[in-house]
Amino acid sequence: MSPIDLAPLLKQTFGYDTFRPLQREIMDATLAGRDVVAILPTGAGKSLCFQLPALAREGLTLVISPLIALMKDQVDALVASGVAATFINSSIQGSEAQRRRSGLDDGYYKLLYVAPERVMLPDFISDLRRWNVSAVAVDEAHCISQWGHDFRPEYRALGQLRDALPGVPFLALTATATEQVRGDIICQLHLHEPVVFLASFNRPNLSYTVLPKAKATSQVYDFVRQRPNEAGIVYVQSRRSAESLAAALAAEGVKAVAYHAGLQPEERAANQEAFIRDEAHVVCATIAFGMGINKPDVRYVIHGDLPKNIEGYYQETGRAGRDSLPSECVLLYSRGDLVRNLKFLDEMTDAQAAEVAAQQMRLMADFAEGTECRRVALLDYFGEQWPGDNCGGCDICLQPREIWDATTQTQKLLSCIFRIRQKSGFSTGLNHVVEVLAGANTEKIRKWYHDQLSTYGIGKDTPREEWAALGRQLIRLGHIEATADSFQTLSLSKKGLATLMNRTQVMLTRVPVAVKAGTSTAKVAKVGSIACDEALFEELRALRKKLADEREVPPYVVFGDTSLRHMCRQYPRTERHFLAIPGVGSQKLADYGVAFMGAITQWLETHEAQTFAEEAPPPPPPPPKMKSEGGLTGTMLETLRLHRQGHSAEKIASLRSLASSTIHNHLAQAIQQNELKANARDYFTAEEEDELRAAAAEHGLESLGKLKEALGNRYDYPVLHYFRAFETRK
Ligand code: ADP
Ligand code: ZN
Repeated sequence: MSPIDLAPLLKQTFGYDTFRPLQREIMDATLAGRDVVAILPTGAGKSLCFQLPALAREGLTLVISPLIALMKDQVDALVASGVAATFINSSIQGSEAQRRRSGLDDGYYKLLYVAPERVMLPDFISDLRRWNVSAVAVDEAHCISQWGHDFRPEYRALGQLRDALPGVPFLALTATATEQVRGDIICQLHLHEPVVFLASFNRPNLSYTVLPKAKATSQVYDFVRQRPNEAGIVYVQSRRSAESLAAALAAEGVKAVAYHAGLQPEERAANQEAFIRDEAHVVCATIAFGMGINKPDVRYVIHGDLPKNIEGYYQETGRAGRDSLPSECVLLYSRGDLVRNLKFLDEMTDAQAAEVAAQQMRLMADFAEGTECRRVALLDYFGEQWPGDNCGGCDICLQPREIWDATTQTQKLLSCIFRIRQKSGFSTGLNHVVEVLAGANTEKIRKWYHDQLSTYGIGKDTPREEWAALGRQLIRLGHIEATADSFQTLSLSKKGLATLMNRTQVMLTRVPVAVKAGTSTAKVAKVGSIACDEALFEELRALRKKLADEREVPPYVVFGDTSLRHMCRQYPRTERHFLAIPGVGSQKLADYGVAFMGAITQWLETHEAQTFAEEAPPPPPPPPKMKSEGGLTGTMLETLRLHRQGHSAEKIASLRSLASSTIHNHLAQAIQQNELKANARDYFTAEEEDELRAAAAEHGLESLGKLKEALGNRYDYPVLHYFRAFETRK
């Protein structure tokens, strides 16, 4: 229990009745003076973890934030809730800068946002002392790690800030799940024995659908058209596609804009602003569009092209539904995207880096082609296990796939591969195999006399896409091997040969093949939905936009969709009722109560109030269960794969752009899990082992830091990790 009762403050200021998972624990730890690392997925409510404690403690909370746009939005939102918050950066000058500084001198502000480079300014540290800084929050803390996707060298200066402010608790926040980034945050920020909070990375309100890609533009248009007032992001691979897609949508009357790094800064900023202010509904973007966006009501994210890796896919889809309302993630997938991406890699000069990138792309394609629950597959990549067997929010779980007896078709396909090789002495790609099965008259078939094969034309009755889908499934299941280069020539594996020879029964899950344009997504479950008077909702949405424009803030700063939807099911017309709406605190009541209650009263003069069934309570979040307790995560398996190819830990580290300590850690875990057979003598001598064991008997194995110290720092961490792995091996 923290000595301060945070709950009343939460309601009064932010209008919320309950804490989200881990918020309370994080706040208690930071208020107790501990350094904290909080790793929570997007939308989990990280900002509140430092904003509320800032109000509860004496002095000023300094917030480090990477982007001016982010700072401004957060400060706007805080001010709208009646919190004394401000930011200083190069865009604030003259008398305004002076005004803010004197507010800081007077102790008026509770929160100050700055960019990391400011920390390096000569007088800043003494300013901070004068302003009585009592806590520091480092937002988007993964920017400190060069292994992350948003490395910002300026963040490196923050370690010095930590050293300059002993006794001031630091709170680092990020949504980046990879462990090497986590480790880097702790070490680069010089955190003191931090408490680390790691939430589940499941996003219950997001649904995941993979659709066969046919005509991407019309598929996207079809989807967007059915969601006229909703905001969405469409990610595509190239700048050119971003622009052409935005233009195509705009030509159909959709309010769409493009966003990519090649636009002029003014145009880029204007397009982003239009999206945040609900003036543009759709952004067609490359992955350059992202971190600056904390728009909470993005209702869908579409990937028009195959993302390069699962991590990126997760981060990009994660931008949907921060407000916890149901939101959709749609991936348009065609095998051609993978082949094209792999071809690009052929041009890379660093062959091993290309191999790693290719592996990541294949994992992404496996995800798209997979027949297992999308949520399970995604969480599995981050080492988390989804409890239960039907997530209710992905295409696989919502439309269970038919299981069919594919024995005959499999025989035909495998023998065709076998015959081609037998006749010609070389292998071909899947396309050619399908052409042979289909009995096509192509140049290659004529040239190689493949029309004389016994398997020529035996698959005429089945559409080619189905043959291709079957081929890919058999590759994934290990009956067929494809070479790693972009040609992907096929041969039978041992397993495939046995299947062919023994006529083994093969039961497969039916995979949907390319469908005509205009396909809609699977029916999605609406986790977190709030039924309400939709017509009134549109009305209040317009009012919100008008008020926001008058105040020059984004609409969500006035009220989020969640608040509006609650208003549209409860029709509050008294202050007490209005205050009971989630997201309404005392400041918002004072500023907006009259306008919204007035609009509701007026509405009810001409409309019947609707009634809504009691809301089902949201399903309890699954306890964060990390797989590392039993089994290895995707990233560890990748390390293990490279290790088995004979690479040293240092080599793997450089190939994967990870710290070598991380690789040692992976290998140690693999030893511990008995997934890697290893000999202790390769890691430490018998004498060393005796010494380590004696120290461990006294100090335990929980804290390797303690053990290291007890041993006079004569052993490095990797050795200690390996020692612990051998000692606790299953
Ligand atoms: P993150 O930084 O983790 O992506 P944010 O801090 O932007 O998440 O919060 C996401 C949304 O959740 C915001 O709209 C915020 O107001 C809302 N939120 C945060 N905490 C709570 C809570 N305890 N109850 C209800 N809504 C919350
Ligand atoms: Zn599922």
